[in-house]
Amino acid sequence: MDYKEKIKERIEGHCLITFGKKSKYCSNKEKYIAVVKSLMEDIVPKWNDSLNKYDGKKKAYYFSAEFLMGRALSNNLINMNWQSDIRDILKEYKIDYNNIEESEDDAGLGNGGLGRLAACFLDSAATLNYPLMGYGLRYEYGIFKQKFADGFQIEGPDNWLEFGDSWSIRKSMDKVVVSFADGDVLAVPYDTPVIGYGGNTINTLRLWKSEAINSFNLEEFNRQNYDLSVKDKNDAENISKVLYPNDSKEEGKILRLKQQYFFVSASLQDLVKKHLEKYDSLENFHQLHGIQLNDTHPTVAIPELMRILTEEYKMDWDKSWDIVVKTFAYTNHTILQEALEQWPVRLYKVILPNVYRKIEEINSKLIDELEEKAIVDDIRDYKIIDDNNIKMAYLAIYGTHSINGVAQVHSDILTERELNNWYKLYPERFNNKTNGITQRRWLLKSNPELSEFITELLGTDNWITELDELKKLEKYKDDRDVLERFLDIKQEKKNQLAEYIKEHEGIEIDPYSIFDIQIKRLHEYKRQLLNALQILDLYYRIKENPNLDIVNKTFILGGKAAPGYERAKGIIKYINEIKDLINNDKDINGKIKMVFVTNYGVSYGEKLFSAADISEQISTAGKEASGTGNMKFMLNGTPTIGTLDGANIEIVEEAGENNNFIFGLQVEDIERIKNTYDPKKYYENVDGLKRVVDTLVDGTFSDGGTGIFKELYNSILKGANWHSPDQYYLMKDFDSYRKAQERVNEAYIDRSAWAKKCWTNMANAGKFSSDRTIEQYAKEIWDIENC
Ligand SMILES: *Cc1c(COP(=O)(O)O)cnc(C)c1O
Repeated sequence: MDYKEKIKERIEGHCLITFGKKSKYCSNKEKYIAVVKSLMEDIVPKWNDSLNKYDGKKKAYYFSAEFLMGRALSNNLINMNWQSDIRDILKEYKIDYNNIEESEDDAGLGNGGLGRLAACFLDSAATLNYPLMGYGLRYEYGIFKQKFADGFQIEGPDNWLEFGDSWSIRKSMDKVVVSFADGDVLAVPYDTPVIGYGGNTINTLRLWKSEAINSFNLEEFNRQNYDLSVKDKNDAENISKVLYPNDSKEEGKILRLKQQYFFVSASLQDLVKKHLEKYDSLENFHQLHGIQLNDTHPTVAIPELMRILTEEYKMDWDKSWDIVVKTFAYTNHTILQEALEQWPVRLYKVILPNVYRKIEEINSKLIDELEEKAIVDDIRDYKIIDDNNIKMAYLAIYGTHSINGVAQVHSDILTERELNNWYKLYPERFNNKTNGITQRRWLLKSNPELSEFITELLGTDNWITELDELKKLEKYKDDRDVLERFLDIKQEKKNQLAEYIKEHEGIEIDPYSIFDIQIKRLHEYKRQLLNALQILDLYYRIKENPNLDIVNKTFILGGKAAPGYERAKGIIKYINEIKDLINNDKDINGKIKMVFVTNYGVSYGEKLFSAADISEQISTAGKEASGTGNMKFMLNGTPTIGTLDGANIEIVEEAGENNNFIFGLQVEDIERIKNTYDPKKYYENVDGLKRVVDTLVDGTFSDGGTGIFKELYNSILKGANWHSPDQYYLMKDFDSYRKAQERVNEAYIDRSAWAKKCWTNMANAGKFSSDRTIEQYAKEIWDIENC
């Protein structure tokens, strides 16, 4: 029987035994599940083989509170080389593959860039045959589903497990007990295969679900205390219930602390147990395990491993500390003060007293060391426990052998400024690992049209695993036929996006207009508000001068605001108000249009990045550690309009400043002006600026009586008790941003010059493959080999 027949038979079989009917009576969702189960029949045996091949070698482990995986089906079909067979079979059934693909819910177990980075790293490591395993939490509800009501963001639950998750396997035999001072819970692992391109290596993402040790109390039930009979079950399961539960109150803070310790403790137990099955002590633990802490969320792993070594295995303190430091490495993702994690000592003492004792010991060791080195003045800049708070970043630095930033400028800011004291103490620990993205998802999967063209020109598809190959395409940058075809492909992607937006947002956009796209989490430092002000200014200028000669432009924005972040939610409302004004104004005659896409996530992103003409990366210089959205646009041949911040700097280094649109303050400029900056000066004097800023307070728009627009206005002109006026320099950068937008419009008119810019960006995107990043982690931090 040929292979295709075999797959067909499996799909029929799964439809029958899972849904009780033939495939022709199954819904798309049901067919999707049957396809996944059929595929898993091939994946699982290969997966098991793959796990054995690293036996006895050092492996790396990525501890992360977030894994933003998105959909798996297309990726896995491509990587297992099943895609054309499945498409053929579905065609025979008269089923459109796209409907099956769209039936899969995104695995949205993360917020944004940090969680997506973890997903790209897993893909790259598996493709490069590196032993890297992900450890995290199996949230029952991922990042909330975003909707709008009257322009306001509404958050709904993301019930991604409603139909189960056929990609993961519950490994009940590997469950462990996690202990808190107020009781024990079970941690049950669910394993998901991470298939490398070509299917040679299949690694594992292991996510822990919390369960009660006794999930049902029959005595209470029979006493007719029904709530009490399931109280343990509910309490235990709450730990892995949702990603980033609201922690504005004490109960929420406790829950978050429990989440962190829960997955870290379970993962370390898992590793220690497996290690001791093969070796008779833990003295060589660091020779076989390298653990990367993705930001500070898993930092409790440091005192927890100390506790295991010194108390459970009675190992000497200094020897244990040596093992701990050699095992762990830490990635810093932000310098924003409010994002630096601290925990009140009180909570640790109540929930994790044994771990807290270890933190105290570590802190006094540190103080001894500082005294030895005669560092006595600025000791507060080091102390892990200070003012009744535990500073997780300091713990992460002291307890690891490697601390990396995520783009060169970010790493420089850490060593020269934010962590300079630590850098002076341990210069050898600090390094840079500029982020990357996987080209398998962000080009091959999301833009098959451009992918085919690239392969055709190169005469090989080896760029799929060696992205530097794209550099060979640079020679076509003046080839008219090549650029023509590039523009045709871009147009096709824009048509597809326009179609999707019409269907999902109910807005018709002109597919021949410039697609100007800003998609990312809503945050003041990312300056979506600056974009909004610039769009509104353009609108007023068109109103004043209806003959203003511009290429039609569609501004597409998208992103979620954290539920408790009122200003970010206010900015969404403001953008939606501007959108309604512009889209309903007949005078504008289609010159500009606006869309705020609903529920931006990985899958929506795949459609947006590939269809963009211009990439908005306009954060305040020094605030965006790296950014990875910027790289996804670049890889799809999209120039950046942006500041010299994060990886934008390296993008421009690779692709040339003349092929991008750089504007605004730089890091050093801000250092120079920050003490004397007066936004009013710009607000009052820059042509048109007052007019747009005042719409926050002059009744042009309604904030539904919430007062949030006035709050935004004050944040710019008055400041607040925690920050100075306009702390993100919108007023100062407005004019140079507007000029950069004008440069975009002029450049776009010359179609071949424009195509050349796009092409040059794409051809120089090789550096930004997460394959390059993972090679660096493997060689320079983890010291692991590939098979
Ligand atoms: C890449 C990505 C991000 C990160 O975007 P930035 O612009 O770097 O902040 C966030 N969310 C999703 C869904 C992504 O795919």
